[in-house]
Amino acid sequence: LFAGQSEFLKGVVAMAGLPPADRLEVCFAGRSNVGKSTLINALTGTKALARASNTPGRTQEINYFTQGPDLYLVDLPGYGYANAPLDKVQKWQRLLKQYLSGRPTLRRAFVLIDARHGIKPVDEEILKLLDTSAVTFQAVLTKADKVKGKEMDKMLAQVRGALSKHPAAYPEIVLTSSEKGEGIGTLRAIIAG
Ligand code: GDP
Repeated sequence: LFAGQSEFLKGVVAMAGLPPADRLEVCFAGRSNVGKSTLINALTGTKALARASNTPGRTQEINYFTQGPDLYLVDLPGYGYANAPLDKVQKWQRLLKQYLSGRPTLRRAFVLIDARHGIKPVDEEILKLLDTSAVTFQAVLTKADKVKGKEMDKMLAQVRGALSKHPAAYPEIVLTSSEKGEGIGTLRAIIAG
């Protein structure tokens, strides 16, 4: 279903640049370094795809990937960069807000959370934004291979607790490891469903 069906379409810096809303899309959000590019690569079965979005200059863009003829995968700019200039942060916050509340074909947002770190204040800002955006979001824990047993149980409890305060949160949390392939099939099935 997924492998070999994705291509980078374009990077978008303003709502006017979005491709026509002619098919459904899902988007991926997460702190910088959460493993978003690696996850998109694992999902699409390509090694180099989301590298496009990690190249300097593309990191503040909304990056569109086609997934077959009927779906877009949308890579939102990573947030929480240390030392990011305030005007840039405000610019992308504005764009993000417009995108999340103004894209009729957006079906679900996936918010990536590092399984070692859990939900941080900077993530909470996005979750709050999503609550007011009329789009369901689903938490995806990344780098699950780094956290084992009881530690993972604790992490899941923390994330569940935080999500329970957000009306727009989908209750099921997806555990993934792009490195080990864990949860990738599950996430593909959710996206395809
Ligand atoms: P992005 O900034 O969110 O796009 O993050 P990247 O995809 O560039 O990943 C950041 C770092 O985390 C890289 O060094 C990756 O190799 C590492 N990483 C990503 N996914 C995993 C994973 O599933 N397991 C482990 N152990 N490391 C990962």
